[in-house]
Amino acid sequence: MSEMAETPALPAPVGAGRYNVYTGVQADAADGGVVPTAAQLGLEPPRFCAECGRRMIVQVRPTGWWAKCSRHGQVDSIDLDVRR
Ligand SMILES: [Zn+2]
Repeated sequence: MSEMAETPALPAPVGAGRYNVYTGVQADAADGGVVPTAAQLGLEPPRFCAECGRRMIVQVRPTGWWAKCSRHGQVDSIDLDVRR
């Protein structure tokens, strides 16, 4: 019962890991950065698609956010099963 999932499966626009979703920097660059966990995404919406690095359309709500990549679709914080 104490088993914890450190890396839950995330949709491609936030979980692909190719680009930093907050900075748009390529993940293999020196300052590329880290794939955010669902918990981090619960606190701050992503700004860039993790799959292609495009700037996403982001809408923040009182209850969460959604972010949309024109190629890879929309992610909603509700879908991420964020554990607080
Ligand atoms: Zn994309």
